[in-house]
Amino acid sequence: MRLSRYFLPVLKENPSEAQIVSHRLMLRAGMIKQQSAGIYSWLPMGFKVLRKLENIVHEEQMRAGHIPMLMPTLQSADLWRESGRYDDYGEEMLRISDRHGRDMLYGPTNEEMITDIFRSHVGSYKDLPLTLYHIQWKFRDEVRPRFGVMRGREFYMKDGYNFDLTKEDALHAYNRHLVSYLRTYERMGLQAIPMRADSGPIGGDDTHEFLVLADTGESEVFYDSAVTDIRLGERDINYDDKAQCQAIMEEFTALYARTDETHDEAIFNAIPEERRRSARGIEVGQIFYFGTKYSEPMGATVQGPDGKPVPVHMGSHGIGVSRLIGAIIEASHDENGIIWPEGVTPFHVGIVNLKQGDAEADAACEALYDSFTALGLDPLYDDRNERAGGKFATMDLIGLPWRITVGPRGLKNGVVELTCRRTGASEELPPEQAVEKIA
Ligand code: ATP
Ligand code: MG
Ligand code: MG
Ligand code: MG
Repeated sequence: MRLSRYFLPVLKENPSEAQIVSHRLMLRAGMIKQQSAGIYSWLPMGFKVLRKLENIVHEEQMRAGHIPMLMPTLQSADLWRESGRYDDYGEEMLRISDRHGRDMLYGPTNEEMITDIFRSHVGSYKDLPLTLYHIQWKFRDEVRPRFGVMRGREFYMKDGYNFDLTKEDALHAYNRHLVSYLRTYERMGLQAIPMRADSGPIGGDDTHEFLVLADTGESEVFYDSAVTDIRLGERDINYDDKAQCQAIMEEFTALYARTDETHDEAIFNAIPEERRRSARGIEVGQIFYFGTKYSEPMGATVQGPDGKPVPVHMGSHGIGVSRLIGAIIEASHDENGIIWPEGVTPFHVGIVNLKQGDAEADAACEALYDSFTALGLDPLYDDRNERAGGKFATMDLIGLPWRITVGPRGLKNGVVELTCRRTGASEELPPEQAVEKIA
């Protein structure tokens, strides 16, 4: 992409409405525009990052054997009356009526709808196990939408639902989700710690939330500092292997890590003092096992091996895709702007032309641009007629992992400058070598 032809409306000033750094930087970097409280347009660069996160989520869910689909944003109230949640859900639910006076709602989650799909089409235990998911906009009429996309009213969520014959199978699905979520967050350059949590309006007993530690997080958390040393890394995972998934789940949840709702002072105080931590965190996902809470009232049964109908065991599993962008920026920025982890960066490298219009500099930039494109990388070429200082500030603000600076003086010696956004380290080297380093 050439910056002169892109739409990147960066702001020079700090927007006064933004209280936390991720919100400020997303506005300044021209990623989002607020349309009304908690409702945002995703401008091209914000949209590009959102798509990247979405792709990672899809890849990791499909790797775990979960099947993508798409359900609508608007739902009929009748389904929610069946589960009893139409009244229970309260004011967070945006209720709408259509021209015929039918009660509709903008879905805050999809347990009812997926259970309805299941009961319409699945009749035998032989069709299980089954896990379906979608990534779709949700609406929750939050009392206090704030912090930009972190607590929006309209937000983008991956939600998946497992259907199993037995509790044991459903707990395997739970563990599969836990492992696939850990992989997902690690690919995004994040550490998200599974913590024992409260199930809230979804219901059920077994639940973990995934928290990214950050001072600006809205959740209060308590944990044994040793949990922060565990990583999934590049292990080979076989999602059909129940024992392996169970072992990973146990490894990641054995140490104390809880949100305030489930916090237990007595257990916490038994941890050696130097490892006791209380901190704040951002909830970027949650997994639940809730058994037959929806399948029973909604009649989602299958014929079991003995021919008798049995309600299926279910769980639901959510990732806050749009909130994750805020969480990534909270975890990775400096005073000059965002620092994108490689896996989610909107462009792989920025090319800064110090003297636009200089035949040699222009040609060198074009050549770099073509080399990156040929390698399947996505460069952003700042080809505007602007001062170097302004170009550098924009590149720092939007936080691409690498910057290549091209100017007539360097080119005389056959070199360009390669700068790493994270470390700030620069080196001069021939253009081909700069390309090799990034590729
Ligand atoms: P919170 O405690 O922050 O209100 P939640 O527990 O109500 O979140 P879940 O029902 O568990 O949310 O939804 C799954 C995920 O969706 C959450 O872990 C979070 O990452 C994301 N999410 C929930 N509410 C919002 C929101 N208002 N804006 C952005 N993301 C959200
Ligand atoms: Mg909530
Ligand atoms: Mg929560
Ligand atoms: Mg939650």
